[in-house]
Amino acid sequence: MSAPSPRPSIFSTISRLAHEHGAINLGQGFPDFAPDEGLVDRFVYHLRHSSNQYAPMAGVPALLQAIGSKIRRVQGVSVDPQTEVTVTSGATQGLWTAIQSIVGPGDEVLLFDPAYDSYAPAVESRGGVVTSINLVGPEFRIDWARFAERLKRPPKLVIINNPHNPTGTCLRHEDLIELESLLAPTETLLLSDEVYEHLVYDGREHLSVLRYPGLRRRALVTSSFGKTFHVTGWKVGYVVAPPELTQRFRQLHQFTVFTVNTPAQYAIADQLAEPAHYEGLPTFLAAKRDALARALSTSKFALLPSEGSYFVLADYSAVSDEEDGRFAERLIVEHGVATIPISGFYRDAPAGQRYVRLCFAKKEETLARGARRLLSC
Ligand code: PMP
Ligand code: GLN
Repeated sequence: MSAPSPRPSIFSTISRLAHEHGAINLGQGFPDFAPDEGLVDRFVYHLRHSSNQYAPMAGVPALLQAIGSKIRRVQGVSVDPQTEVTVTSGATQGLWTAIQSIVGPGDEVLLFDPAYDSYAPAVESRGGVVTSINLVGPEFRIDWARFAERLKRPPKLVIINNPHNPTGTCLRHEDLIELESLLAPTETLLLSDEVYEHLVYDGREHLSVLRYPGLRRRALVTSSFGKTFHVTGWKVGYVVAPPELTQRFRQLHQFTVFTVNTPAQYAIADQLAEPAHYEGLPTFLAAKRDALARALSTSKFALLPSEGSYFVLADYSAVSDEEDGRFAERLIVEHGVATIPISGFYRDAPAGQRYVRLCFAKKEETLARGARRLLSC
């Protein structure tokens, strides 16, 4: 069995370099602004008044219920909080445990590159084999005919990410219908990474795979309250899956983390009770996305559309013909701005793509300062 790569993640590498050079960090996906004060107050309240001991293994009942209610409200479907929802230590642990619960030696896992960096190591740590289909800019849309071709030998698991990191694209209803119909004759399972579920812009709806019965019955869906409530350091997320898959998931969950931070779970349950806290996010973050776009409108960077997530891709081909890793390094060292080179998300990046990822989940003053520096390129 091959061990996961010991290579540090592109996010840590870039953030370290940014720190060393005092660069403005528009790279790693974390907010530099404070979370809602009410949420912090609820955390402090529960530290003082609720339990500071182990939560029940699957999550505190108040949070499981609140997740179930939110899913009903937003996606229009019912999930059973007792048998279908598990609170995780961030989406990272949810993804890792989900993959470990499904994949065995020699199993194929098909994903779409560019892909988030934690999927492949989880597969490889079980002796599974990662294969991928490249999405190519500037559209980065899935070619379903190619996918159909690959299903002639159905993989054990397919991984999707919607809204998508790093491209900011969202799957359309037609995409999900296509996926549902192509998977229908197979036993292939689906892992749907939906950590940016509440960050979709311009009046779009987030289409969770939970809405599609043929997908839902085979899917584990991960999400992250770190992203939703701007508390990436709290490391609280969840996984939704049908009872049989949830049981398999929990068997491993109980021996990896067992339970997740109790007062944080209570605080998040309280926050979810007010839908405005997640329903207001698209307006709040789209304003940041648009402020960054305005500030860069006279630069040589061409921003691609961002339909969701914390991210927007910038085409820098009018600035330089360097490959993106070197370019991103030079942006840090010479211009004092950290971005993420998109090739870090590919196994085998298409030649000639010139994109870096910018994170706009930052204070407007950070975005303005970062943009001013990029204007000097
Ligand atoms: N999936 C994607 C696509 C992400 O961007 C991230 C980044 N945080 C995660 C999973 C991990 O989420 P968490 O921070 O909750 O572990
Ligand atoms: N998800 C975040 C990003 O894409 C970073 C998470 C991490 O640093 N591992 O930037």
